[in-house]
Amino acid sequence: MEPQGITGRVLRNVSMKRYTSMRVGGAVPYLFYPEDEADLRLAVAWLNEAGQPYRFLGNGTNVIVADRGFAAGLIRVSRMRHLRFSMTETGALVAVGAGLPLKSVIRSCAARGLTGLEKLFGIPGTVGGALKMNAGSFGVAISDCLSSLRCMDERGEVQRRQKGEMRFGYRSSSILDRECVIEATFELKHAKAEQVQAEMDHVWRERLKKHPMERPSAGSVFKHVNGGPCWSYIDRAGLRGATVGAACVSEKHPNFIVNMGGASASDVKRLIETVKKRVAEATGVTLEEEVELWGFDDGA
Ligand SMILES: Cc1cc2nc3c(=O)[nH]c(=O)nc-3n(C[C@H](O)[C@H](O)[C@H](O)COP(=O)(O)OP(=O)(O)OC[C@H]3O[C@@H](n4cnc5c(N)ncnc54)[C@H](O)[C@@H]3O)c2cc1C
Repeated sequence: MEPQGITGRVLRNVSMKRYTSMRVGGAVPYLFYPEDEADLRLAVAWLNEAGQPYRFLGNGTNVIVADRGFAAGLIRVSRMRHLRFSMTETGALVAVGAGLPLKSVIRSCAARGLTGLEKLFGIPGTVGGALKMNAGSFGVAISDCLSSLRCMDERGEVQRRQKGEMRFGYRSSSILDRECVIEATFELKHAKAEQVQAEMDHVWRERLKKHPMERPSAGSVFKHVNGGPCWSYIDRAGLRGATVGAACVSEKHPNFIVNMGGASASDVKRLIETVKKRVAEATGVTLEEEVELWGFDDGA
């Protein structure tokens, strides 16, 4: 069945190697780029009618797709990239299209002397992906300065939800898998532009120092354990530098698995399983994935 009436691009049988930061994985049957909200509604309606499962994709920096692919249509709202500032007495309300990279939103806010998001500088996702994951760094989560969200549900209905109507936890949110974030509004405060820029520079330097940015990865593989970082448990299990095929536990930061070149999704998945097993044996701790694994359900 071919998608009908959709104005935006629709790609068929697309390899996820190109669309995920881990650079592994097989194909998805459809990749939609809706032009606007009306087009997004058409894409969602067509997918529902065709009985085709679907998910939303941002920059693919927190997902790993199986080698045999993932039987879901993916929708990327990368055309939704607006950025509107309404000044308030204390700062501004900033309405942001969900397809914008978080980095460029933070740069624009910093240039206007608006503080609140700068500690998230360097997280390589989009606004939509960051909200779904409640991404965070340096003690700040993206939901901290969120005011409201506009989402489209699977019936194509758009609703604005105030932050108080939603739930956000550590790397989790109440945004459903079949719900699309279209726009977020953040409430930011006035600050000196140089101070905001200095904080961005600081967190960027810390990232360069601590994270293996030179290799493809999906960021932290596992969630914090008991409120603290889990790399020390991985270290205690002696896993720094452990490999399966071309997937490797980073020497620089053991909660990252990096693709040394030509890794398969199965290499990455098997390494994740090895780390979980060995950490449980060595420390008694059960690690839980922060990354999303798509298409692995029957043990690919
Ligand atoms: C080098 C590196 C460093 C990282 N550092 C951090 C860090 O410091 N802190 C942190 O929290 N994360 C970090 N990450 C992980 C990742 O960048 C974040 O989770 C990010 O928020 C994911 O955004 P994305 O657009 O890439 O989402 P994707 O990976 O594409 O998707 C993630 C989830 O969001 C959903 N989604 C995407 N767009 C939408 C939308 N518009 N509406 C509804 N759902 C949507 C997807 O369906 C999926 O469930 C890092 C990753 C890398 C590679």
